[in-house]
Amino acid sequence: MKKYYDAAIIGGGIIGCSIAYYLAKENLKVGLFESGELGGKTTSAAAGMLGAHSECDDMNIFYPFARNSQLEYFKLEKEIRELSKIDISLCKGGIYKLAYTEKEKKEMESLCALPTVDWLDANQVISNESTISPLILGAAYIEDDVSVVPEAVCKGLGISASVLGAELHEYTQVYDIQKQESTYLIKTPAGEVEAQYVVVASGLWSNSFFESMGLSNRIVPVKGECLSVWNRGTVLNHTLFHEHQYIVPRMNGSLVIGATMVENDWNERPSLGGIEKLIVHAKKMMPEIGEMEIGSTWAGLRPQTFDKKPFIGRHPEQEGLLFAAGHFRNGILLAPGTGKMISNLILGKEVNKKWREAFKIERRHEVFA
Ligand SMILES: Cc1cc2nc3c(=O)[nH]c(=O)nc-3n(C[C@H](O)[C@H](O)[C@H](O)COP(=O)(O)OP(=O)(O)OC[C@H]3O[C@@H](n4cnc5c(N)ncnc54)[C@H](O)[C@@H]3O)c2cc1C
Repeated sequence: MKKYYDAAIIGGGIIGCSIAYYLAKENLKVGLFESGELGGKTTSAAAGMLGAHSECDDMNIFYPFARNSQLEYFKLEKEIRELSKIDISLCKGGIYKLAYTEKEKKEMESLCALPTVDWLDANQVISNESTISPLILGAAYIEDDVSVVPEAVCKGLGISASVLGAELHEYTQVYDIQKQESTYLIKTPAGEVEAQYVVVASGLWSNSFFESMGLSNRIVPVKGECLSVWNRGTVLNHTLFHEHQYIVPRMNGSLVIGATMVENDWNERPSLGGIEKLIVHAKKMMPEIGEMEIGSTWAGLRPQTFDKKPFIGRHPEQEGLLFAAGHFRNGILLAPGTGKMISNLILGKEVNKKWREAFKIERRHEVFA
């Protein structure tokens, strides 16, 4: 007899692991299938900013969903530590979103009107962080836009899910899903399993499943390059953010500098030109960076949809098949929210109608060139 799961999840990045965790918490029998190791693809390349405010360009849909997910992290940190013994290194301190010009300051007016954000002038910022460039006019200070270590969150969620009964199958690629009468057949080189629900959470690599399930949705790569440097001596307590580039302090004393945006590039290795751009921009935020020792360089591929919002929801014609992919720049931030939303959909619990509409897979889509 074939092994049976209530829910089979394809992909063990942060999105798949979060879904496994929230479903296992509800006592479902969960099986997660990952081609490589948990968090080994895009998730491990991320800087780990939880930028619900700093990354927000849509107060109507993105902000409430992202904020909800961000707040969940403050509970998850403890749950993950207790279940998996993994510390997700939630680094408090928040973000300084820097403004160098009056125009940039003005563009932050609606952000600064939020009760969770304060405008600080240059003197206030520099008295807190003496290494920031004196050329700034000021910064939006967002205390709740903290950071985490993405791989730790991903492994922590996966291991926590397994403590709650989920079965994790690493190095097990799913090569086909077949609809049967009331279940799905999931095919892997290690054999076939059956599941009532299947969730495709394979990030950038979800396209083949869209295609085999009769959908024309596409996810395209946006390569991001990063480097880390060792911050010996100088202290940085806040993430610095300017024009989508950032310097994120880690608890081990390193600083993560990221990230470039190269559309439609499948090459997972960083280029010298990309790293050069990052260093130039980082020095503009924190001039001392030029003196620091390089730790490492890397690149990852962000999964981008046509409207930059993820696909989270059911197949339009199949009750048992769900998708959670295409989280682009914010998959770390959105992982708890996505895990909860998929779990609520499967369990028939209430899901915010606006989110359901905004993220549904059958919303109008265009083909990328
Ligand atoms: C440089 C960079 C910086 C970033 N910084 C941030 C940040 O600061 N904050 C933030 O919120 N987000 C950030 N992101 C975005 C974030 O990393 C992604 O949105 C997120 O990791 C997507 O997670 P995922 O689980 O969907 O994808 P992935 O992590 O790619 O996971 C998908 C998994 O599916 C597996 N898989 C694929 N096909 C199959 C198959 N057939 N069978 C089994 N398994 C399969 C893959 O091996 C992979 O492990 C950043 C991204 C990059 C590249």
